[in-house]
Amino acid sequence: MLMRLAIFALILSGLANLGFAAASPSLWMIPAALGGWYAADMISGIVHMVMDYHPARLGVGLDRLYFYTGSRESDEYVGMFRASMARINPFERLVYDFKNHHPRPDALGRRTMLRQIGSTIVAGSLPLSLLLNAACLLWPVPGWAVAGTLSLLIGGTFAQYFHGTLHRADNPWIINAMRKIGLLMTPAAHQLHHDTLRRDFATNSGWSNALLNPVFRLAHARGWLTDAGLEPQG
Ligand SMILES: [Zn+2]
Ligand SMILES: [Zn+2]
Repeated sequence: MLMRLAIFALILSGLANLGFAAASPSLWMIPAALGGWYAADMISGIVHMVMDYHPARLGVGLDRLYFYTGSRESDEYVGMFRASMARINPFERLVYDFKNHHPRPDALGRRTMLRQIGSTIVAGSLPLSLLLNAACLLWPVPGWAVAGTLSLLIGGTFAQYFHGTLHRADNPWIINAMRKIGLLMTPAAHQLHHDTLRRDFATNSGWSNALLNPVFRLAHARGWLTDAGLEPQG
């Protein structure tokens, strides 16, 4: 129910922002929208990098879930999963989800869109969209700035959905069309991340990977990100 309200509010708020943008159109909207799309890709990469390497919470059985060898449909596993998840907060759940994605990448593609993007809407997109509404009401925000922020909002909102489409064979036509023109990355390009877990963390367009890869190498060399964080420990 709360989630439906959040989505409804985001749609209304987004339409209002679209109206603000349309009120002062200019050609600058095109580079601004591309800039927003780049920024969304970069955020997807930074969040992914931090979540992959941030150590999972200890002592709540996340290691047992991660390394569980039996059936994930078994009562034993489902019970363990529920017990562990009840003991961690949404951030810690996200940290676990990113790590769990590496050995079981297809699970993300099987999730519903709402499960993929729900937490992003509540924690990120809706607050940012409402702030943009407020800014447009208070100040004469130029149309290009609204367009750039809208592009960032759309890219950011659907980031985990876009990542999911990289792990699924059947996708809506628009995903394939966006891949063709380079607005979304290809599964082959994303596979480079899964092959080493040390590069190409951005999962929208992949445009920012050229910038983020040296950032990762520096953070890894300095020990800010350590391999021990990649898998849940006991
Ligand atoms: Zn990863
Ligand atoms: Zn992936």
